[in-house]
Amino acid sequence: MNKNILITGGAGFIGSAVIRFIIDKTNHNIVNLDKLTYAGNLKSLSSVESNSRYHFEKTDICNSVDISRILQKHQPDIIMNLAAETHVDKSIKGPAKFIQTNIFGTYSMLEESKDYWEGLKGVKKNNFRFHHVSTDEVYGDLGKTNILFTEKTSYSPSSPYSASKASSDHLVRAWYRTFNFPTLITNCSNNYGPYQYPEKLIPLVILNALEGKELPIYGNGKQVRVWLYVDDHAKALLHVALNGKIGETYNIGGHNEIQNIEVVKIICDILDELAPSKLDGITKYEQLITHVSDRAGHDLRYAIDATKIKNELNWTPTETFATGIKKTVEWFLKNRDWFN
Ligand code: NAD
Repeated sequence: MNKNILITGGAGFIGSAVIRFIIDKTNHNIVNLDKLTYAGNLKSLSSVESNSRYHFEKTDICNSVDISRILQKHQPDIIMNLAAETHVDKSIKGPAKFIQTNIFGTYSMLEESKDYWEGLKGVKKNNFRFHHVSTDEVYGDLGKTNILFTEKTSYSPSSPYSASKASSDHLVRAWYRTFNFPTLITNCSNNYGPYQYPEKLIPLVILNALEGKELPIYGNGKQVRVWLYVDDHAKALLHVALNGKIGETYNIGGHNEIQNIEVVKIICDILDELAPSKLDGITKYEQLITHVSDRAGHDLRYAIDATKIKNELNWTPTETFATGIKKTVEWFLKNRDWFN
C-alpha cells in the first residue's frame, strides 16, 4: 500500500538518497522538509523534483507552528527524522547549532508528531511510525578493543555532535516509553557515496586531490571506521521504517573496518587509474597526503555489529567498500559541477 512519508533533512546527503530511492523504486509519496542549511542542496533531487509524488516544504524542524501545519497538510503515515547538523569539526568550533537542531529540533518533531498522531483514527493511527535516524558515534570510542557496538552497548558520546545525537535518541526512547508514541531508531556507521558534502573525509579527499590540494589526515590516520555505501543505507532505512518493530533500535553498517589512512590511499589509487595526475611534480596522488594535528577528543575506533537487522529484518548491504568507493570516485569525476 502507498504511504505518505515525510522526511526531514531530505536535501542532505542521506536524505536525498532515501528520497531518490523511494521515488525511483516504490509508489510511496514523499514530503521533503528541509531548512536548506549549507549542507542541503536541492540539486541532489533534480532527478525527482518534477515527480507528482514528491513535495518540498522549506522550514526548520525547530519551528513547531510550521511543523504542525505541514503534518496536517500532508497527513504522513511515516516520519523519518534525518535533519541534523552533522559535521563533528563544526560541532567542536560551535556546538550551539547542534544543541538547537539535533536536540531541540528532535524534541519539537516528537511533540508535533505526537499531537498529530493522537488526532489520527483507526488503521491510520495504528500504523503510524516515527523513525529517528542516528549514528554509531553515540556509543563512543572502542579504542584498541575487539568489541563491536550492539544495540545494547551503553551510550558514551565523545564530541558535541555525538552527544547531541545521543540526547536526541534518549528523547525518542522516552516518547515511546512514556507516551507509547510509536518510534523506531537506527544507528548507522559512516556513510559515503554520491552527493556527500565535501567537508567529510571521502569527498574532501577526492576533490582536493583533483585540485592538487593537500589531503589532510588527522594525527597518524589510524582511526578505524566501518563504511556503508549510502544507497545501502537508504534501502535499510525504508525497510526499517516499513517493517521494523515499534520501540526497537537497529544498528546498520557494512562489514568492513578500515583505517582512515587506508581509505585515503585507496582513493588515491583509484584516481591514479581513472584520472592520472597532470599536476606539477605529482605522479601519484598519495604524494599530497599531509598529516595534521589530531581532532580534539577524536575516537580511535567505531565498529558496528549489524547482526540484529540481518537476523530480524533480513537486511545486508549489497556493496563492498571496494565496489562502493569505485562508484563514488567515478560519480565525483562525472559530477564536479554538482559541488561547484
Ligand atoms: P547532511 O549534513 O548531509 O544533511 C543534513 C540535512 O538536514 C541538510 O539538508 C540540512 O539542510 C538539513 N537541516 C539541518 N538543520 C535543519 C533544521 N534545523 N531544520 C530542517 N532541516 C535541517 O547529513 P547526512 O550526512 O545526510 O545525515 C543525515 C542523518 O543521518 C543525520 O541525522 C546524521 O546524524 C545521520 N547519520 C549520518 C551518517 C553519515 O555518515 N553521514 C552516519 C550515520 C547517521
